[in-house]
Amino acid sequence: MSAYADLMAFQRETEALAQISGRLGWDQETMMPRGAGGQRAEEMAAIEGVLHARRTDPRIGEWLAVVVTGGEVEAANLRHIRRSFERTSKVPARLAAEIARVTSQAQSIWAEARAADDFAAFAPTLREVLSLKREEGAALAADGDVYDAMLDDYEPGATASELSAMFDALRPRLVDLRAAILEKPAPQGLSGEFDEGAQMKLSRMIAKVFGYDMARGRVDKAVHPFSSGSGTDVRITTRTTPSDPFNCIYSTIHEVGHGAYEQNIDPDYLLTPLGAGVSMGVHESQSRIYENQLGRSRAFTGWLYGQMRDAFGDFGIADEDAFFAAVNRVTNGFIRTEADEVQYNLHVLLRYDLERALVARDLEVDDLEAAWNDRFAADFGFAVDKPSNGVLQDVHWSVGLFGYFPTYTLGNVYAGCLHEALRVAVPDLDDQLAQGDTARATGWLCQNVQRHGGLYEPRQVIEMASGAAPSEGPLLSYLEGKFGGIYGL
Ligand code: ZN
Repeated sequence: MSAYADLMAFQRETEALAQISGRLGWDQETMMPRGAGGQRAEEMAAIEGVLHARRTDPRIGEWLAVVVTGGEVEAANLRHIRRSFERTSKVPARLAAEIARVTSQAQSIWAEARAADDFAAFAPTLREVLSLKREEGAALAADGDVYDAMLDDYEPGATASELSAMFDALRPRLVDLRAAILEKPAPQGLSGEFDEGAQMKLSRMIAKVFGYDMARGRVDKAVHPFSSGSGTDVRITTRTTPSDPFNCIYSTIHEVGHGAYEQNIDPDYLLTPLGAGVSMGVHESQSRIYENQLGRSRAFTGWLYGQMRDAFGDFGIADEDAFFAAVNRVTNGFIRTEADEVQYNLHVLLRYDLERALVARDLEVDDLEAAWNDRFAADFGFAVDKPSNGVLQDVHWSVGLFGYFPTYTLGNVYAGCLHEALRVAVPDLDDQLAQGDTARATGWLCQNVQRHGGLYEPRQVIEMASGAAPSEGPLLSYLEGKFGGIYGL
């Protein structure tokens, strides 16, 4: 066999083991008996050990040294394998083990501090995590920028200077849009109780409407919705609350966006480095365009209104227009994960600016809470009341995910670009969405983005699909147009 064939056979087994590890993670959040936590931690550690050994196996270096590059697919596979191998080789084993140990403890210390609303109880741990992640970033960056090296784990090729240019243009217009909206009277919300079984039934039906293949997936409940797996086994989760069926429906549509991306990748790429979504930003572009530009559109919500009336009877909303306004209600809130389309990115930009300052040592951990509260007041116009509604609300920093937050807003920016191109490609899209038919939209996304998996670089796939270099412009025009209409601005 050629070096390429040997390398790919080895890689395929690693990919299969990684899928097994992911499925253990899915099980832990959905099905695992409460008492199984200790044993599961050991099982996960064992398989992670096997995966780490395979990913740093010296034979990969030998194969990469002699392999002869063939066509586009071969070159892309080698690019992914080389990037991963070089990354793991640059970080000393001692440091990788120390990060794993400290972050697994930090998560529970963060959870306790959040429950007690006590940032000072978390600060020493955060300082330790940050210091280790900085050390890792420096090892990865060599002479380059440490934050860019962190970003590269989630969004290969992206740089902070490129992201900041887009984000700095977004922020003032979103702050103004938010303020203008909140001067207007809030639309009516839903009232009453919504049967949780009926919510799940409706959500499964909507998942199919968005093209999610139940023969290669399933929908279960989890505390924090997520999607998991690639290829022919892609699972999603959602949640239900009796008073808020939108939470269940839109969590489902969001995760269907992630899941459909994985399901729609070219089957030739199964269990290869190309057989998964290419970056966190591109992944989030799919979940967001399904959830927001399609799922929260006037046309689709018109159809959804009828489905909800069938499922739940009268819930106090008079007509389709009032329902569209209820789905897209903008209200004050502290929590990122509960934010509407207008305010969501302001939450993300706050975290992005603060974490860059932390990494660059322009901000000390001891000053983080005050910096958070100042920035929140500046952008949202009211004060954070307690740390669990502010600096302690997200798990990310405790587990060392510096460089992850910006991919949420990058995903929204990408979704804006794709949506603009989709509207040109399918001019009568609203006629279809109004019938609960998403096939043309999801088909276009499959053809132009999803089927490629990891074949192209993240930015490249968005640029090819949308026909222009990614920018914040389309997202801003979409948000200002849509919310300007709803609120009469
Ligand atoms: Zn997502």
